[in-house]
Amino acid sequence: MFRDGARKSMWQAEIKRFETLPTQDQLFDVAIVGGGITGVSTAYRLQLTGLKCILLEANNLGFGTTGGTTAHINDFFDTTYKEAISKFGLENAKLLAQSGKEAIQIVHNNVQRHSIDCDFEYKNAHLFAVEDDQVKALEDIVDGAHQIGYEMTYVDEIDYPIPFKKAVIVPKQAQFHPVKYIKALAEAFEQAGGMIVENCLCESYNEESDDVTLVTSLGDIKAKNVVYATHTPPGISLLHFTTAPYRSYAIAFTLKNDNYPETLGYDLYDPYHYYRTHRVDGETYIIAGGEDHKTGHVEDTGECFSNLENYCRQHFDMDTVKFAWSSQYFEPVDGMPSIGIAPSSNGRVYIAAGYRGNGMTFGTIASAVITDLITGTESPYEKLFNPKRFKPTAGFTSFVKENATVVKDFIGDKLSMERIQSLAEIKEGEAKVVKYEGNSYAIYAEQDGNLHVLKSTCPHAQCEVRWNNAELSWDCPCHGSRFNINGRILTGPATEGLERLDEDLSS
Ligand SMILES: Cc1cc2nc3c(=O)[nH]c(=O)nc-3n(C[C@H](O)[C@H](O)[C@H](O)COP(=O)(O)OP(=O)(O)OC[C@H]3O[C@@H](n4cnc5c(N)ncnc54)[C@H](O)[C@@H]3O)c2cc1C
Repeated sequence: MFRDGARKSMWQAEIKRFETLPTQDQLFDVAIVGGGITGVSTAYRLQLTGLKCILLEANNLGFGTTGGTTAHINDFFDTTYKEAISKFGLENAKLLAQSGKEAIQIVHNNVQRHSIDCDFEYKNAHLFAVEDDQVKALEDIVDGAHQIGYEMTYVDEIDYPIPFKKAVIVPKQAQFHPVKYIKALAEAFEQAGGMIVENCLCESYNEESDDVTLVTSLGDIKAKNVVYATHTPPGISLLHFTTAPYRSYAIAFTLKNDNYPETLGYDLYDPYHYYRTHRVDGETYIIAGGEDHKTGHVEDTGECFSNLENYCRQHFDMDTVKFAWSSQYFEPVDGMPSIGIAPSSNGRVYIAAGYRGNGMTFGTIASAVITDLITGTESPYEKLFNPKRFKPTAGFTSFVKENATVVKDFIGDKLSMERIQSLAEIKEGEAKVVKYEGNSYAIYAEQDGNLHVLKSTCPHAQCEVRWNNAELSWDCPCHGSRFNINGRILTGPATEGLERLDEDLSS
């Protein structure tokens, strides 16, 4: 599997496996955990400063959301400039805009420097109000943008065959093929002397005064600094209580006519639809996204794809849907990403998280912010994105204590598979959570009748997982950990899988 779900994204055919070299007894300047856009961009940038870096990935580069993104590169965000001004002030909203422009420039520079063939293109964007009640929201967006001197211009026409009430054009946004981009950047990182280790799950870390030891599935790795580019922070972090995991859905389809939009497009529904055009293997597609919901909060995730497709069919002269996939992102309560020293760290552990739907931009700017912080260079964004800005809530400290001492209460009693099967009355292709003698089990029956029985408690913070029928995964609604039908981790923050019963308890 190359991605954290059963469905194929449009990008994953380009995923490359990197050869792993032995790492024993070396002290690295920086270990970067996570091989998505954040980890690869950060590892590359740090290595170029002369530091000795290692990039560790639990699966393969692009396995996480970067392999399931839609890869618009924007310098306007899900958090509008109006909202940013009201929560963080005018100067900080300007700084946010500056970070976006800088991120697009970084991507462009990397592409040019290494002649990366990743379909990078500057694009204008259309933002449009489809319903009357979206007009005020659009006017607010424009008002906020104009207050900070950000260009948005009202237009009478858009590139999309969707009736609208009011629309703007935003210049100089961008798009690319995300996996081709990180693959090339990872190769440049290696050429500059960096090491990449795939299939290396980082389970925990010990931060000392001089270095950090990462406990990994391939043994301990020591570094002077560690960057968690894992999309969500490790362990039980305050940030898990101030960010929420969301799923979003994407389809890529061809048209019967040739009217592929030139611009990036966004309506203002909540959740909104997002669109763009991309050419892959000689075929042009519209990529449409939307139908977002909190992870684990929708009963039939397959319906999200049909809703998205039906909506698009109403407006586009759609021919064939060639790809349909979903992925995960994280919503911070204050709308701002967290990039910098981890809340619980004394200064050697860094995180980059809470990007909303703007991780191409924030994952890129994270590479600059973290490189500056580690090399002792002043970063203009250090304060704005500071992960320590959240204050612990009353219940948080006791929650951490309780979860740090969770004793494994795995069922010692032998459980008959037949009993569970009859209890669950589960049909082929179905999944259920079943309570049995005080325990709760996540059960999935494959089409051939093969049964997978797991303990349904997420090992991260002891929440109960829920079935995701579109991606054949068990998803934790609390902090977004996800597991495949065998209990293997697909998405953190969990660093252990769901416990599996059927292998050793079948008698
Ligand atoms: C459907 C969808 C569409 C989107 N579209 C856009 C868009 O158009 N533009 C945009 O800017 N943003 C978009 N986003 C958001 C954006 O894709 C993400 O924010 C971004 O990809 C996150 O990148 P990342 O590198 O931080 O994390 P990821 O790409 O998730 O990478 C994290 C990596 O860390 C690894 N990992 C996790 N835990 C461990 C561990 N313990 N040990 C070792 N490795 C570990 C994972 O396997 C994974 O490969 C979209 C999101 C979704 C869901």
